[in-house]
Amino acid sequence: VINLKSIRENPEVHAQNCLDRNYTALSGYPARIVELYDEWAGLQKSLRGDRERANALSDAVRKAAKADKAELVKEAQLLKAKIGTVEVKERELERDMKELALALPNSTHPESPVGTEPSILDYINPDNAPRKVDPAEVISHTQIGVELKLMDFADAGVVSGWGWYYLHNEAVLLEQALVNYALSLARKNGWMLVTPPSIVYSHMAAACGFRPRDQNGEQQIYLLNEGQHALAGTAEIPLAGMHANKTFGLEDLPMKMVGVGRAYRAEAGARGVDSKGLYRVHEFTKVELFAWAPPPLAHHEERQHPTADDIFNEMLQLQKTFLSSLGLHARILEMPTTDLGASASRKIDIEAYMPSRAHKDPWGEVSSLSNCTDYQSRRLNTRIKLDGGSGKKTVFPYTLNGTACAVPRVLIAILENGWDGAKGGVVVPEVLRPFMGGIDFIGKK
Ligand code: AMP
Repeated sequence: VINLKSIRENPEVHAQNCLDRNYTALSGYPARIVELYDEWAGLQKSLRGDRERANALSDAVRKAAKADKAELVKEAQLLKAKIGTVEVKERELERDMKELALALPNSTHPESPVGTEPSILDYINPDNAPRKVDPAEVISHTQIGVELKLMDFADAGVVSGWGWYYLHNEAVLLEQALVNYALSLARKNGWMLVTPPSIVYSHMAAACGFRPRDQNGEQQIYLLNEGQHALAGTAEIPLAGMHANKTFGLEDLPMKMVGVGRAYRAEAGARGVDSKGLYRVHEFTKVELFAWAPPPLAHHEERQHPTADDIFNEMLQLQKTFLSSLGLHARILEMPTTDLGASASRKIDIEAYMPSRAHKDPWGEVSSLSNCTDYQSRRLNTRIKLDGGSGKKTVFPYTLNGTACAVPRVLIAILENGWDGAKGGVVVPEVLRPFMGGIDFIGKK
């Protein structure tokens, strides 16, 4: 299922792709795959010769006069042993090639800027851009949280350690309201609702591009059962895995699902000023969009079905609607190659303005949208049948994933931007009020 042909034919393109995406340690893999393939092809050739000779020998044994038989049988046995040894080597080479190819990152979309700098595509609610404020006047979500009794980090530190938290009172209502609002928007647009499992097989996580450690060697997922299982870092993994080893008809696509669950992140080495409070935590609630769409197909087939690009745009529109209706000021970024991770071919992040970050970079990432092309479907063996399902021809669908709502950072943006210093409380965005019993303002208790 891995596209070895493309790697063999263009090893330097794949090596450069590793460098562009900051997978430097893997940049030698494509050349190594070519070497292994040449060795494998050599073995294939010698195996063909040996097998022909073995067939001829068994014929000869059958027809041989009694006196000559023993000699021929001995030769046939030696040849059989040799073929066995070469077959073992052949399987080892196949395994090694596959292992190296599986570790390589996806190919990169031409829209993704090469390097470390994103390009700014657009702004959400440009009119809500805040005036410059004195950093001394800025009140952060952690201060608001204490003031209004909305969250706690000290008790959580005792119970679970750094990076965990309790939400209290209206923050709990806000969390549920955000989830229900995001689900209702997605459902109205035809996305099927799913509550997926939070524990997945580690090989499922790996097939989606999540390894226990990232390319910088930092732990990214929590492992359980001696590594057999992992805590899902995102509902993307159990959603993608739902259709592993299945074949669909083209008419079944696009399939669009919205999953709600808890996301678990090891976030090793992430402690710092930027990760204070809710910004970088180990566990959070997330509503996630996941879709399967046809890959680019011949013109006549394409016209009847929305393409992966159409779904990508639909997902971006949903994200924009969600954030803009909350009144948040945000910017939309085309992410550079070093930010794409293993699976994405293209990624768009949205960053909301967060006043407490205004002293340096005021923007905090609140959502992410990726087109993973066929990276995940190849590894999960999810296929689609062409020819109206009659023929044998299958292709791999493209998979797309995007955040509908990652609660903690949206909560930060709502609390900090909605803070009304004069009244000493937070204004609740209008669209959330119906989901929290009409509460429009969170004041002091
Ligand atoms: P990702 O799946 O890493 O693209 O993350 C999706 C969204 O989840 C991000 O845009 C953030 O809003 C949020 N997020 C990611 N990691 C964390 C974390 N450790 N703590 C809080 N929110 C996070």
